[in-house]
Amino acid sequence: MSKERTLSIIKPDAVAKNVIGQIYQRFEDAGLKIVAAKMKHLSQAEAEGFYAVHKERPFFGELVAFMTSGPVMIQVLEGDNAISKNRDIMGATNPKEAAAGTIRADFAESIDANAVHGSDAPETAAVEIAYFFSSIELN
Ligand code: UDP
Repeated sequence: MSKERTLSIIKPDAVAKNVIGQIYQRFEDAGLKIVAAKMKHLSQAEAEGFYAVHKERPFFGELVAFMTSGPVMIQVLEGDNAISKNRDIMGATNPKEAAAGTIRADFAESIDANAVHGSDAPETAAVEIAYFFSSIELN
């Protein structure tokens, strides 16, 4: 096992539903520690930059509109195998396909409004953490 850090975002749908605390509890129950956090209402440019890898995908415009529709809660999670562990507790991208007991199965409505983001690999985690947090903000 290796200690890793991953970037997590609680998306506007879950923030609006007032379930930040319940999702944080899932992180803690999984042994993931919150080592940095901020709430932010993303601008169009910030959302487009974050999801730049998806800019050619047909859903890009809707994804950016959704991610800028309200504030998000952004955090860095740390723990053993944090990247895959967070992906496991998030569940599948489409909540209809997400395993029972996962965050998306319990809190998400649709593939667009799917409650959480989590980095998918060490390289993307490093880029995504640096996108939102400077080194002095990481504890
Ligand atoms: N997404 C969407 N429609 C799709 C596929 C993806 O709106 O058909 C959105 C969804 O919010 C997803 C994000 O784009 O979380 C990024 O897609 P990815 O395949 O990377 O899924 P994730 O890593 O978030 O599970």
